[in-house]
Amino acid sequence: MFYKYLKIVSFTAISLTPIVLTYFLKKRYIMLMEQSQPPDSGNYEIIFTTIDHRNCKQHLYKKIACSESCSYNYLVTIVRFFESAKHSISLCMCISTFNEVHDALIRAHDRGVVVRFISDVEMLNITATKKERLRSAGISIKVQPDKSKILHHKFCLVDENYPDEAKLFFGSLNLTCQALTSNWDITVFTTNYETISRFREEFDYLWYSFNFL
Ligand SMILES: [Zn+2]
Repeated sequence: MFYKYLKIVSFTAISLTPIVLTYFLKKRYIMLMEQSQPPDSGNYEIIFTTIDHRNCKQHLYKKIACSESCSYNYLVTIVRFFESAKHSISLCMCISTFNEVHDALIRAHDRGVVVRFISDVEMLNITATKKERLRSAGISIKVQPDKSKILHHKFCLVDENYPDEAKLFFGSLNLTCQALTSNWDITVFTTNYETISRFREEFDYLWYSFNFL
């Protein structure tokens, strides 16, 4: 009798073990997948510029928007992006010539935001006056050690160490009048922290690899 029960118990245990194991492994897998997802996947906003905006050059100078998609509104969006910074701005931009952008960086620096600016050394040399203005205002600028190589990135992080406040824009757009009015370009604005973290790693890598201007 005892052996009969033992046989039944053993048979049941052997039959159920894979089912129970599969159940718990599945549960563990789902838990790990949920943990690996960011709590908020964030928003994405995409802005395209086209050569149709070439007449908006005058609107940039006059600071008056001709329409919702006017290049001047685009510039205002970017300046507001900098103005929203509470802790840090990490700008990695091949070419940046807008006084409005540089003013926003200087204002951020003056209100205690840590501003780090990486740019292309040759492009900075072309706009030497603007570069000196930023430097004399106390903005830290770094450039690639090898002048024959081009720093071609276009992205900017704001408050990147604070997941609830962090934001990023990236794309093909240089911060120039030419890019805003006469090119086909794209900029993506996002609060997705997974993407932001990847850009933050890249910025930090470049910052520690590059030289102060
Ligand atoms: Zn316009």
